[in-house]
Amino acid sequence: MKKSFSFLLIGILMIGLVAVSGCADSTGETNKVEDVTEEVVPTYVVGTEPYFPPFEYADENNSNDIIGFDVDLINAIAADQGFNVEWKDLEFDALIPALQSGQIDIIVSGMTITEEREGSVDFSDPYINAGLSLAVAADNEDIKSMADIQGKVAVVQQGSTGALKADELKEEGIISEVIYLAHVSDIVMSIQNGRGDFMINDLPVTKSFMVQNPGVIKIVDDQVQSDSYGFAVKTGNTELLDMLNTGLANVQADGTYDQIMETYF
Ligand code: GLN
Repeated sequence: MKKSFSFLLIGILMIGLVAVSGCADSTGETNKVEDVTEEVVPTYVVGTEPYFPPFEYADENNSNDIIGFDVDLINAIAADQGFNVEWKDLEFDALIPALQSGQIDIIVSGMTITEEREGSVDFSDPYINAGLSLAVAADNEDIKSMADIQGKVAVVQQGSTGALKADELKEEGIISEVIYLAHVSDIVMSIQNGRGDFMINDLPVTKSFMVQNPGVIKIVDDQVQSDSYGFAVKTGNTELLDMLNTGLANVQADGTYDQIMETYF
């Protein structure tokens, strides 16, 4: 009984050795026969800050799943170009450093294409227009437009284009203070509790918040700045950038893009 068991074990080990040696020859090159049958699908790690509806946010039915416009769009591009994606949840201001250090391969996070960021990453073609808006608490009678923000306190998302805009207003001596917070929900809360007077944030995101939570905030200027979002890759990663641009053009041409638009807007 014992003997036959050890024979069996030796047999299994030998099969294992043959299988391993069949995969690579002494130079480390993979076996040509195997290549024909197995197509290698690359997996790219996508970094995102998933608290930014309707672009990327947790599915309320399963909080482990990230859903949204950006998610559907990159999934469609990945299917078109033949790659898999794996999501990595990061704070917004940690995304560019993570890309530069190789922790992630693509930023898909409602990221605005700016000249300054072009210095640190390479952007895809723009995939949606999303400018900045100014919003205040729903019961605020004080601020009716940009003209009324003199001496007021801005609340913005750290590392965002809204923060850059608020910094400019502060430098120009127009506003008195800028408060930086991690997520849009925190920003709205600080407007509600009076810590800040107004918020500068991406128009579609502020609008989406208002639809989900009526009566909390109101938009007083929807044209603070006009911008576009792009996917970002590490500077010089033209292979991946070409896949993103080709995939984007394909899903725009075949109607998939419009379907995704209809789902979220
Ligand atoms: N679009 C803004 C930016 O790029 C904010 C993006 C975000 O918070 N996800 O700075």
